Amino acid sequence: MSTAPSDLVVVGAGIVGLAHAFEALAHGLSVTVVERDRRPVGASVRNFGHCCVGAQDGDLLDLARLSRKGWLRAAAAAGFWAREAGALVVARSEAEAAVLEELHADRGGEVVQLRSAARTAETLGRPVAGRAVPGRATSGDVVGGAFLPEDLRVNPREAAPALARWIAEQPGAEIRWGTNVTGVEPGTVHTSRGPVHGRQILVCVGHDLDHLFPEPAERHEVQRCRLNMARVTAPAGFRTDASVLTATSMLRYDAFTRQSSAARLREEVLGHSPELLEIGANVMFTGLPDGTLLVGDSHHYDDTTPPFLDERVSRLLLDAVADVLGVARLEVLERWQGVYANSRRGPLLVRDLAPGVRALTVTSGVGMTLSFGLAARTFAGTLEPTPA
Ligand SMILES: Cc1cc2nc3c(=O)[nH]c(=O)nc-3n(C[C@H](O)[C@H](O)[C@H](O)COP(=O)(O)OP(=O)(O)OC[C@H]3O[C@@H](n4cnc5c(N)ncnc54)[C@H](O)[C@@H]3O)c2cc1C
Repeated sequence: MSTAPSDLVVVGAGIVGLAHAFEALAHGLSVTVVERDRRPVGASVRNFGHCCVGAQDGDLLDLARLSRKGWLRAAAAAGFWAREAGALVVARSEAEAAVLEELHADRGGEVVQLRSAARTAETLGRPVAGRAVPGRATSGDVVGGAFLPEDLRVNPREAAPALARWIAEQPGAEIRWGTNVTGVEPGTVHTSRGPVHGRQILVCVGHDLDHLFPEPAERHEVQRCRLNMARVTAPAGFRTDASVLTATSMLRYDAFTRQSSAARLREEVLGHSPELLEIGANVMFTGLPDGTLLVGDSHHYDDTTPPFLDERVSRLLLDAVADVLGVARLEVLERWQGVYANSRRGPLLVRDLAPGVRALTVTSGVGMTLSFGLAARTFAGTLEPTPA
C-alpha cells in the first residue's frame, strides 16, 4: 500500500467515483479510490443498467451523449457487458403515441424512430393478434412505439465491480476497500485506517454526502429517493436488450415532459391509474444477460430511508409491468430497495469545499447516464460548480 500522495484521491467506488478514476488513469494520473464497503453495493449496482440518453434534454442530453462514449471505452477496457441496445418506449393509447410523435417531429427520425404497433409488440414478445401463444396477450392494446437508438445498456451488477477490478490492476492505481472516510482537508483524506494523501480530492459518496458534509448537502436540499425494484423471470418470447419505457416514464423524463402533448397524457394516466402517479411510478424494465428482467420503479423522498419495503407498491409495479408484457403475473426472484440522491434544486451538486477538494453528487436518478460525461468534463476543466 503506497503512502506517497496520489494525483487524485476519489472517495466512493460507485459509478461516479469509478468513472473519474477511469478518466484520471486515461490522463496519466495516479489515483487512489477509498471505499467503505468491500465492493460496490450502492445505487450503482441497484439500478436498471440503463444509460438513458434519448430521454434527456438540454445540457443533460449533451452530457449523456458524452457519457455514452466513456461507457463504451470503459466497457472495452474492463471487458464488461455493454450493449448499444437503445430504448423502446411503448405506446398503448393515442395520447401516449402523440407524445412520441411530437418528440419524433422535434428531434428527427434518426434519434427518435417511430415503431408500428406490430413491431413494438413483437419486441416485447407479445404475439401479433390472431397468433395465440399460451399465457401471453396478443399485440392487443399496443398502438405503437418509439425506439431511441442512443441509449446504452450495461449489467448494473457487473459493470461497477468489473471496472473497479480493472482500475485496481492498473499501474498507479489503488482501491482501498473497507476503509471509511471520516473527514477531508486539503491534501488529506482521513479514514478509519489512517490518512490517505492526494493532490486533488474528489468526494463521490452519492446520497451520503450529508454524513460527511452536512452543510453543502443541506444547502442543495439533498434528499434520499428510495425505489422499489425486483428481478423477475422473463416471459417466453421476450428477447431484447433495449430498455423498455412506458407512459409513466414519459411523465418523468424531460424529453417527453417538454412536449405539449404531455399534459394530456398526464390527465389520461391520472384518470386510469392514479395509484401509479401516487407512488411516483416509472414503469420500466430491462433484461439481464441471464434472461431475467429488472423491473421497477417507484419514487419516495425523505431525509432518511426507512428500511421497510411496502408490498402494495411492489405489487402495483409488478402488475403494471405484467400488463405491458401481456402476462397474468410475473415470477419474482428478488426484491430490493434502491436509494439515490435527489434535489429539487437541480440534477447536480458540484461544490469546491476547500482548495483541491471537490464534492460531486448526481442529485437526480440519472447518475448511470451521466457518470462518464461528468468525468470527461472534470478532466477537460469544464465542469462548473453548481450555484450555492
Ligand atoms: C433503483 C434505481 C434505479 C435507477 N435507475 C437509473 C437509470 O435508469 N439510469 C440512470 O442513469 N441512473 C439510474 N439510477 C441512479 C443511479 O444509479 C445513481 O445516480 C448513481 O448510481 C449514483 O452513483 P454514485 O457513484 O454517486 O453513488 P453510489 O453508487 O451510491 O456510490 C457511492 C459510494 O460511496 C461510498 N461511500 C459513502 N460514504 C462513504 C465514506 N464515508 N467513506 C467511503 N466510502 C463512502 C458508498 O459506500 C458507495 O459505494 C437509479 C438508481 C436506483 C437506486
